[in-house]
Amino acid sequence: MKIFGVTGWKNSGKTGLMERLVAHFTAKGLRVSTLKHTHHGVDLERPGTDTHRHREAGAQEVVLASAARVSILHELRDTDEPRLAELIARLTPCDLVLVEGFKNAPHPKIEAHRAATGETLLAPKNDTIRAVASDVPLPDLDLPIFDLDDTPAIAAFIETATGMAPRSIPKLANDCFALPPGVNWTPVDKALATLRDRLQPVAGTETVPVGQARGRVLAADHMAIRSNPPGANAAVDGYAFAFAGLPAGDVVHMPLVDGRAAAGAPFAETVPMGQAIRILTGALLPNGVDTVVMQEDVQVNDGTLSFPAGVKPGANARAAGEDVAAGKLALPAGQKMRAPDVALLSALGLSNAKVHTRLRVGVLSTGDELAEPGTTMDIARTYDANRPMLLSLVEGWGYAPVDLGHVTDDRDILHQALNDAATKADVILTSGGASAGDEDHVSALLGETGSLHHWRIAIKPGRPLALAQWNGTPVFGLPGNPVAALITTLIFARPAFSVLAGGNWLEPQSFLLPAAFSKTKKSGRREYLRARLNDDGHVEAFKSEGSGRISGLGWATGLVELPDEAAEITPGTMVRFLPYSGFGIT
Ligand code: AMP
Ligand code: MG
Repeated sequence: MKIFGVTGWKNSGKTGLMERLVAHFTAKGLRVSTLKHTHHGVDLERPGTDTHRHREAGAQEVVLASAARVSILHELRDTDEPRLAELIARLTPCDLVLVEGFKNAPHPKIEAHRAATGETLLAPKNDTIRAVASDVPLPDLDLPIFDLDDTPAIAAFIETATGMAPRSIPKLANDCFALPPGVNWTPVDKALATLRDRLQPVAGTETVPVGQARGRVLAADHMAIRSNPPGANAAVDGYAFAFAGLPAGDVVHMPLVDGRAAAGAPFAETVPMGQAIRILTGALLPNGVDTVVMQEDVQVNDGTLSFPAGVKPGANARAAGEDVAAGKLALPAGQKMRAPDVALLSALGLSNAKVHTRLRVGVLSTGDELAEPGTTMDIARTYDANRPMLLSLVEGWGYAPVDLGHVTDDRDILHQALNDAATKADVILTSGGASAGDEDHVSALLGETGSLHHWRIAIKPGRPLALAQWNGTPVFGLPGNPVAALITTLIFARPAFSVLAGGNWLEPQSFLLPAAFSKTKKSGRREYLRARLNDDGHVEAFKSEGSGRISGLGWATGLVELPDEAAEITPGTMVRFLPYSGFGIT
């Protein structure tokens, strides 16, 4: 989310400018939210109204809702006024947050100014103000000055100042999900190759501090700004000297110079040939030395250092740039940032990273039978397990989960839900209704777009997958059965999302391990069993392959992948184990 502010004195035209900017950006198709600071207690209703009475009675939060809008009033009692960042965190993700007021917060802002207020500008003193919008010409300020009414020019300035990603997300081809013709049941590898070939990144880009980049996908190659290490330094605590100045003999004696070299406190002078200096780990090697002897290997008496001969030239010293040289590739575009990557970029002097915006993954459940757990005990209802499962997966993968709720098997409602979803998400995951039966409305609706491809994949478990685009947004229509929904998501959606997010195609991690079970498998389709390792490191399979046995998902710590071909497995046969952790399930 981009954040930009409008500030100014009372009656300076702030709210009018906010109003024009909101209208301007929303007309361009951006989702804009606003935040406003006020010095008064926030009260949306007169005293005596119902919600006012709830609050007075002590409610912590009061939600006032109608068909038109929802307001949440959170009472602050014995807490400080919330900071802007905390307030922004309450907003639903959007493209731009325009903030009115909060003049002392660090976000960039424009100052509205009207001559009639008689006030002098805030701008020169407040260095978060990046431009001024004024109703009268102003003297030179070293800042851009706009006509208060020139909304397009002010909006263009805000777009540049925030580095707002262009909205023109690259479009996927309409037939991008077409499978090779003439094949009845598509092998898993062919289906995967199709996804891999056809997909491309759809996420925009933004700059974030390196310390906040974990889970984000780099949008550019990142180069070392400085070498690591930046200068030659000691690898141990000990004594440093020039190797060329070592005296002869089985035991070496050298005078010590006064002073020492420590990390962050270099020794400024040159160490004379034939003399040594006290040095600590990480200290820059002073001029005149190239070799370090460990303190455990020496004796020091009366300012003389003694140690056995045999030290190698350059021992215990690290050369400048021996790890990474300045200007060399630190991490490539497409890398998903993990904690060690954060360390590397930081060590190489990068404070910011150019990353892709988080892929927004919408999750929608469909089916008349579905109900939220906790709402009913009616045995005719099925609790919605897929939506929380898929939202959790998406969050664990570092994407932005967008909960699109549950819709009944009603084509108009589903149509509306998909319209809404396509504006909120970069990719949509639906579950249920994806086959070609009477109640398979997802499938029927997606079919109307002309972009639907039913993937009859030779995989068990997993009924057909429905792949399509709705208003240009890719949709993965998953089977309703939670076991099949999970497995198809892990095998197909996970690598596909990685590419859509700007990252690399992902292959699941796998290990060949001896089986602890028996199974005869026919040829023609790939099978995934819920599996886990026993104490001997052998692979056990869940007692039932029934796809309704959800308990097996929790019992397992991974999957066994059985090949497309026929297989006869007995205890000890090597099988391919795919741990949950390799799928990013934690
Ligand atoms: P469908 O693909 O719509 O025919 O659904 C197949 C099976 O999965 C049915 O038994 C559904 O009740 C069940 N199912 C569908 N969606 C969900 C869900 N979100 N959570 C749990 N079970 C579901
Ligand atoms: Mg259904």
